[in-house]
Amino acid sequence: MKIRVLGCHGAQLPGYNTTSFLLNKNILVDAGTVTSLLSLDEQIAIDYIFITHAHLDHVKDIAFLADNLHGRKEHPVEIITTQGIINILRENLFNNIIWPDFSEIPNREAPVIKFRALDPRSSYSVDSLTIQAVLVNHIIETMAFVVRFEGGSVIFVGDTGPTEDIWEIANILPDLKAIFIETSFPNDMRSIAEAAGHFTPASFNDELKKLFLLKTVDIYLYHLKPQYRELIEDQISSISRDNVKILKEGEIIEI
Ligand SMILES: [Zn+2]
Ligand SMILES: [Zn+2]
Repeated sequence: MKIRVLGCHGAQLPGYNTTSFLLNKNILVDAGTVTSLLSLDEQIAIDYIFITHAHLDHVKDIAFLADNLHGRKEHPVEIITTQGIINILRENLFNNIIWPDFSEIPNREAPVIKFRALDPRSSYSVDSLTIQAVLVNHIIETMAFVVRFEGGSVIFVGDTGPTEDIWEIANILPDLKAIFIETSFPNDMRSIAEAAGHFTPASFNDELKKLFLLKTVDIYLYHLKPQYRELIEDQISSISRDNVKILKEGEIIEI
């Protein structure tokens, strides 16, 4: 599986984009950065968008993507997440006030986007992938995604503070190759991180103790606040774990 990083930061500054990963050519995990990076043809190729949660830095480009795709695809782009997160998106973003409801444009039978609800207790097949949503611990309903593919599996942990269920699953996945997980604030901002449902390098390091397979799994850190990136990098390097890497914008990872 090919993972292209479209955005891997927890805020937006020139050269730093908000969260979005392109899996192969047609599946997105989060949509914080899509339309400012992908060509129109690459945007038309997108068929599925898995959404970890409704915060704007993870969903804003669904709005601009839907606008660009109007009249250009034969089938709707599926926005796949829990019913609770779909309700938040419908009520607060695609509500015909902040943005048009593209799930009814041009009509209900053949819309530009279609919401599809996930049950966290089930797995879903999308192309050659199987994807399962697992609740994590952020300030609003937020999911991690376990992505299984031929030859392995990876986990995208959504925005979160200390959490439990995803580690229980990670610890019994025999072919787990990589975990993508956040660290947003430097250590001296621990109280803000805790209040906002995020990690610092120190709390992330504590969290890693829940992963039994730590030595064999690549850990990719993302969602750093770019204004603190250097400080966070220094604090992560002092943890000195060889398999912990900080993601870069535009990076492509083949797993
Ligand atoms: Zn975020
Ligand atoms: Zn968030």
